Amino acid sequence: MTEAPATNVTLDEIVALCKRRGFVFPASEIYGGIASTYDYGHYGVLLKRNVKDEWWRAMLDGPDRIVALDSAIIQNPRVWEASGHLAGFSDPLVDCRTCKLRFRADKLEDSACGRKPSKHPGETEECDLTEPRQFHLMFKTHMGPVEDDAAVVYLRPETAQGIFVNFKNVLQFARVKPPFGIAQVGKSFRNEIVTGNFIFRTREFEQMEMEFFVPPAEAEKWYERWIERRREWYEELGIRPDYLRARPHEADELSHYSSATSDVEYRLPIGWQELEGIANRGDFDLTQHANHSGEKLEYFDQATGEAYVPHVIEPAAGVDRALLAFLVDAYDTDEVEGRRRTVLRLHPRLAPVKVAVLPLVSREGMPEKARAVYDSLRQRVGAEYDEGGSIGRRYRRQDEIGTPWGVTVDGQTLADDTVTLRDRDSLEQVRVPIVGLADELAARLELPWRSPKLA
Ligand code: ATP
Repeated sequence: MTEAPATNVTLDEIVALCKRRGFVFPASEIYGGIASTYDYGHYGVLLKRNVKDEWWRAMLDGPDRIVALDSAIIQNPRVWEASGHLAGFSDPLVDCRTCKLRFRADKLEDSACGRKPSKHPGETEECDLTEPRQFHLMFKTHMGPVEDDAAVVYLRPETAQGIFVNFKNVLQFARVKPPFGIAQVGKSFRNEIVTGNFIFRTREFEQMEMEFFVPPAEAEKWYERWIERRREWYEELGIRPDYLRARPHEADELSHYSSATSDVEYRLPIGWQELEGIANRGDFDLTQHANHSGEKLEYFDQATGEAYVPHVIEPAAGVDRALLAFLVDAYDTDEVEGRRRTVLRLHPRLAPVKVAVLPLVSREGMPEKARAVYDSLRQRVGAEYDEGGSIGRRYRRQDEIGTPWGVTVDGQTLADDTVTLRDRDSLEQVRVPIVGLADELAARLELPWRSPKLA
């Protein structure tokens, strides 16, 4: 395993910031919460939306032909029969008879035993683990008013199968030919045995998945290319390269359908963890669905006069995990004018708010002027207006939510229509005219960006 530099933040600090600043809250909190389930607050929603937008941008506006899809969460149960989920989507589970906790047998090194001092399950003499049992991960529910077996349906455990079952529809309308992709973002559900580590592993989460259909002879080439592209995506959005790696799976880790898989991993405070898997799935899925449905799921190549089943390269990422990695990577503290400051050094395109407009004081016509500046910016770049409290406190708040730029309206603004523009990272303040400010910020958002933590 690659040795990585230590992170400068704990998961607890991230959880506290998320709660304090309205990114993420425990779900149903006033009723005591519900295990490993979270709600996203305003800034969390904005950040998540930016992560998804950047993913869509990379997929739809990239060099390849990729089309979008939004399939249903509840599909015909036969989909899960064909995909192998009904028979095989399970994890090995062990119980500890001593501490009464339950663990995933293949993730014991990531779990903590229930007794103090905390060790991994099985590490102490007192640990008394049962033999592993298979635990099914799909959430079951009933469709229709009568709870009989005929109406059993499942919440999708991945978005990918919705793509495979629409392969024929897409071929018909989109006039695509391999290599081409179908991309989808949406919620998935897994009744995970071991959850935890905040939003890293939850039972309800969002995925960003793309199935890339290629001629079989090109599968290896595209597999390598997508590993590279997906690693670059995180780096271009500011993740420091030393904290990111692509790790090929060992033979015994591979899923039954996959001939090769690599994980893009990030070094979280809890160690190296998977953000995304890139798998070479061969023709497994299309063949399975063709066999189970009786539909032909092939591509007819006009040039050769032959039909074939395309092979599939799948980059499958988690929105929540990406968001967590971006938060951890961005988290920083420094000292400003003798006071400790917490700052999220997020890529400006990911930042929930791009610019805060602040009147220096809330009198002497400054709030009115600042509101006018805010109105002129908000349609072009995500802006926020804030006039409550001292200017220092307002900046600290914006630093904590990662706002890259701050515009202050002061006495001079009223005289000459200029404002100060403050940079979150360098803390540099320059005087700029209000005219052209929206253009300037919009242009800055398109510039390549590098984490100032690398300096
Ligand atoms: P793990 O080994 O961590 O359980 P996985 O290999 O089963 O993950 P995939 O089936 O490859 O995950 O799903 C693709 C992506 O979906 C993962 O890389 C991850 O980002 C996200 N994901 C999967 N399960 C969860 C979960 N329980 N909570 C949050 N995100 C998840």
